[in-house]
Amino acid sequence: MEDRGFDLEGRLDALVENDLKRSLTPADRVAERGYFAAPSGGELPVLDAEEALVFASNNYLGLTADQRVQDAARQAGATVGTGAGASRLVTGDTLVHRDLERLLAETKGTDRALAFSSGYAANVGTITALEPDVIFSDERNHASIVDGCRLSGAETVVYDHCDAASLRAALAERAERADSEAESWLIVTDTVFSMDGTVAPLGSICEVAEEFGAWVMVDEAHATGLYADGGGIVQAEGLEDRVHVQLGTLSKALASQGGYVAGSDALVELLVNEARPFVFSTGLTPMAAAAASEALHLARHGDARERLWENVAHLRDGFESMGFEVPGESQILPIVVGDRDDALALEAGVRDRNVIAPAIRPPTVPEGTCRIRVAPTAAHDRDDVVTCLEAFQAAGTEVGLL
Ligand code: PMP
Repeated sequence: MEDRGFDLEGRLDALVENDLKRSLTPADRVAERGYFAAPSGGELPVLDAEEALVFASNNYLGLTADQRVQDAARQAGATVGTGAGASRLVTGDTLVHRDLERLLAETKGTDRALAFSSGYAANVGTITALEPDVIFSDERNHASIVDGCRLSGAETVVYDHCDAASLRAALAERAERADSEAESWLIVTDTVFSMDGTVAPLGSICEVAEEFGAWVMVDEAHATGLYADGGGIVQAEGLEDRVHVQLGTLSKALASQGGYVAGSDALVELLVNEARPFVFSTGLTPMAAAAASEALHLARHGDARERLWENVAHLRDGFESMGFEVPGESQILPIVVGDRDDALALEAGVRDRNVIAPAIRPPTVPEGTCRIRVAPTAAHDRDDVVTCLEAFQAAGTEVGLL
């Protein structure tokens, strides 16, 4: 088998040889900047300003309004400061960041993790820092992956959505005209696709990657905190040792703002040195880091995941027994109606019945596959779920879809 992986150690050695290698401040020095203790208690709102039920948020575990998460943010603001004040490599590094990164690495089963100021920055920064020769990208990957591919200047090959056979064909075809054995190849995919509710076939993707010596990078933005023990799909499928880069956002289930990358020590060291959105951007606000840490702790050890998945099962059953088609296998429930006007009429119909769930249209989804994206959270109770189902039943009948 060819090795088309990435020589991160070699690049780090080159930085050392040229006296360019940088490191984050040692933790004992970061500690001098102060720390805080975390908290308890909490109510979870699911209503918008007009008191309509929102079934369209990425706040999947309902933790943005949890008192414990809010207290963590408040205390970090009060004791560490509201802003990092500088890039992490300058003076913006705090123990709050380190705590979050340690917890992320532990959850993800990796050596280390690194916080970015957004998931967007994490994708762009990681793909460009890796400097791949060739990228294989799922056709429905998030825009921040697409932008990372473009900005990296790598040859990018797009394969069919969640289709490991299409991926394999793309690698096989490219292998026939590989310039040299020294090429580095990166396969990149979302794990849970936010508009489709589909889940990437990660096990098969890893098999293809291993056959061709490529690396696998996953974006777990819509999975982090929700699957096995508060991890993502990588943890649910036990693929920690086969996926090279695990990336995600702190802004969805983790109820905060920011992004992260988890992986080997060498990967994180490379990103500290070469990921431009990390090096040249102010560190994540300590308040966001502290809120995300507390939310991750609650995702792993609280009951929010259980409540979310109960709501998902109840809604999926209800929609399917009404006769709606609900593809995918995640917490996102896309009700595919096809026609744009039907989707807009359904959105308006449920809105009249006090439920907010937006119609998704091209260019976000392919022509003829307009849908309503229903996203329950752990903060919805049984009555909320019943209200949602009744609204769809009535509006769907009115629009002539049922
Ligand atoms: N990746 C995916 C799959 C996303 O859905 C998003 C956010 N919509 C991002 C990355 C970007 O994350 P952030 O909002 O933290 O920039």
